[in-house]
Amino acid sequence: MVSANAPVIEVKDLKKHFPIKKGLLRRTVGHVYAVDGVSFSVKSGETLGLVGESGCGKTTAGRAVLRLTEPTSGSIQVDGTEITGLSKAELRPYRRQMQIIFQDPFSSLNPRQTAGDIVGEPLLVHGVANAKERQEQVSALFARVGLRPAQMSNYPHQFSGGQRQRIGIARALALGPKLIVGDEPVSALDVSIQAQVINLLMDLQRERQLSYLFISHNLAVVEHISHQIAVMYLGRIVEYADTRSIFTRAQHPYTEALLSAVPVPDPAVKRQKRVLQGDVPSPVKPPSGCHFHTRCPYAEARCKVESPPLREIAPGHHVSCHLR
Ligand code: SF4
Repeated sequence: MVSANAPVIEVKDLKKHFPIKKGLLRRTVGHVYAVDGVSFSVKSGETLGLVGESGCGKTTAGRAVLRLTEPTSGSIQVDGTEITGLSKAELRPYRRQMQIIFQDPFSSLNPRQTAGDIVGEPLLVHGVANAKERQEQVSALFARVGLRPAQMSNYPHQFSGGQRQRIGIARALALGPKLIVGDEPVSALDVSIQAQVINLLMDLQRERQLSYLFISHNLAVVEHISHQIAVMYLGRIVEYADTRSIFTRAQHPYTEALLSAVPVPDPAVKRQKRVLQGDVPSPVKPPSGCHFHTRCPYAEARCKVESPPLREIAPGHHVSCHLR
């Protein structure tokens, strides 16, 4: 029995290094250090927002957690069971507990399947319902995510972007998962539709005690839904705290820069705009020392040689910076 606030998933020192192969003999000539030792956990009924610019490794981390890509090393525990060494067959019951919602609701839905078949497919694949039960369950899922059961026979192109993402959510819910990884699940939607989809996800979380790993490049998007936020830069977590601490007491210069781009609803409150110089460096050859030193306005000599550990600077608030 898992207590209400126990971690559903606990990740320790997770690494995913993709080999770069060259030549006729396909020799390994280097690695892409996509995820380079990240640790986090997601409690039952809570959301962890995983945030960072494109190329920071957040999507790879999400896929590695689900073992859609094989981790290079590290530990992933689901309800206290280590899943990294499990075979495909052994992994099957855990796959049911962990589902994913993709960014692009159009390309992630098979255009030749009806919406009803798409949502019912996980039930078919896992053999958990006969045809009649499947029809009933899919109909109930359609109604729950705000679609009309009569739309089950329609094809993806007959739905709007927001409706297609609702189909993706219904599909993710079909097997009654504990954890859903949302990989930029609202980034392709209009702002007004984003809010509706996030509200739906939050309602579902309350009803079903769902846990979310919510991946986004945008801090503003994760603020509303996240209990905790982990900020990633070049394969590592640089700041990790509860959402309020991140938004009111951010300590890492990279988090500060991301925050400065978030609009503040109160016109009396002004945030100093900090524009990040340059692009994220290549994860093939990350900068020495603190990976952020090439873009950090406070960088000192030791930042170029010494990698700052992720330290707890206040209860539950972890930062990786020599100056904090
Ligand atoms: Fe900037 Fe140095 Fe802190 Fe890295 S360790 S964030 S370079 S001040």
